[in-house]
Amino acid sequence: MRLTKLVSFLLILSITFSLPSCISAQRNERSETTNHLAIRAARVLDVTSGQLITDAVILVEGERITAVGSRLTIPQGTKIIDLGDSTILPGLIDAHTHITYHFDETGHFGLSGDATPEVTLKYAAENARNTIEAGFTTIRNLGASEKVDLRLRDAINRGEIVGPRIIASGEPLMAYDLQGASSQVERTAQIRSFVRARVSEGVNVIKIFEGVDDRGSPVFSRPDIQVAVEEARRAGLKVAVHAHEAAAIKAAVEGGCDSIEHGTFLDDEAIKLMVKHHTALVPTLYLPTHYLEHKSQFVFDNSTWEFFERLRSHNLENLQRAKRAGVWIISGSDAVAGVHGHNAREIEWLVKAGLSPLEAIRAATIDAAKLLGMEDKIGEIKEGKLADIIAVAGDPLRDINSLEQVQFVMKNGQVVKAKAAAR
Ligand SMILES: [Zn+2]
Repeated sequence: MRLTKLVSFLLILSITFSLPSCISAQRNERSETTNHLAIRAARVLDVTSGQLITDAVILVEGERITAVGSRLTIPQGTKIIDLGDSTILPGLIDAHTHITYHFDETGHFGLSGDATPEVTLKYAAENARNTIEAGFTTIRNLGASEKVDLRLRDAINRGEIVGPRIIASGEPLMAYDLQGASSQVERTAQIRSFVRARVSEGVNVIKIFEGVDDRGSPVFSRPDIQVAVEEARRAGLKVAVHAHEAAAIKAAVEGGCDSIEHGTFLDDEAIKLMVKHHTALVPTLYLPTHYLEHKSQFVFDNSTWEFFERLRSHNLENLQRAKRAGVWIISGSDAVAGVHGHNAREIEWLVKAGLSPLEAIRAATIDAAKLLGMEDKIGEIKEGKLADIIAVAGDPLRDINSLEQVQFVMKNGQVVKAKAAAR
C-alpha cells in the first residue's frame, strides 16, 4: 500500500517537472490552496484493532485523512501540528442529544419556554460549540421543535456556527399525533403522512416516542412501527424509537426500527429480539443521575422524579444483562440542559456498566458511525475517512475519564480547538 503511494507520488513529481513552466505554476497554486497537514502525537488509538500506534503521524489533505502510521515521512513544506504526549482518537459521536434544550436565564429548565425559535437557536448554537469543544464532532439529535435542529445543522454546514455535524430528526412522532385516528387504516395514513412531512423538511432520521398505555399495551403497535419504518426507508432514513418498557421495546424491534433509545426495562424476550434483529440499544445511562443531581434546576412533577429514581436504580443492571446476551450497544447521552459539553460522561457510565474502555469508545466512534449509516466517512482514524480527530492527555484505555479533558479537536480537516501550537 505504502509502496504504491510512493510510486504514484514519484510519478506525480516527474510529471510536474516535465510540464511547461506555466502549467506547473498553476499546479503549485492549486496545491497551496488545499490544506496539507501532518498531525503528530505519542499515540493514536486504532478503535477497530484496539491497538495504540506509537510515534504516530496522521496526514490530512483537505477534509480527509490520507495516511496514518508510526513515524510516517512528512512531505516537505507540510504544516505540522505536534500534539506531544497525547492520545489521538476519532472524533466522538453522541447518538442521542437534545441540542436545543437549555437552562433559562434563571438557570432553570421547565419554568418557561423560549419567546421565539430564534432565541432557541441562539442557545442551541452555544450548546453546539460546547459539544464540539468536548470532542464530539457528530451528534444525532432526536427531537426538537420548530425545525431549530435543522436550522442549526444547516448553519453549521455553511460555516456560520461552530458545532458538530448533526443528524437531525426534527419533530418526533408522539402518541397524540394520532389522536384523531379511529381505525388502523387512518392510523397508517397518518403515520405515513407524518414521516413524509419530516422527509420533505429534510430530516436525517425519524424519531418515535413509543410507550405503553394503562393496560400495558404499546401505544404504537408493531404494524404502526412497520409503516413508519417502511416510509422512512423509502427516503433512505433510519428510525430511532424511545422505549422504556419491555412491551414497547418488543413492538418497536419487531416493527423493524434501527435503535431503541433508553430500553430500561428489558425482559429476556426483548433482549433476544434485539440480538436477533441486531437492533442497537442506546441506554442513556447517565441522564437520570444528571437530573437527580441537579434537581433544583429542573421543574418536573413528583411522578417524573420517581420515574428517574427507577431508571437510575435499574439501568446499570439492565445494560449488564443486555451486554451478556450480545446486544449491540451505542453511546448516546440524551444531552439535555447542563449536559452539552459533558457528553463523555455517558461513555464513562458505559464502563461503569461493565463495558471495557475500548468497547465504550467503540460505542461512541465506529459503532455509532455504523448506527448512523456513516461508517464510510467517520468513526475511525483511517485513510479516506473525514479528518475528524481529537486528542486527550494520557491513555483513555487505562483511564476513561481522560475523555473529559479533550485538548484538540478537528472536524473535516479544520482545527476547532487546539492547545498545542502549530508550526
Ligand atoms: Zn431523548
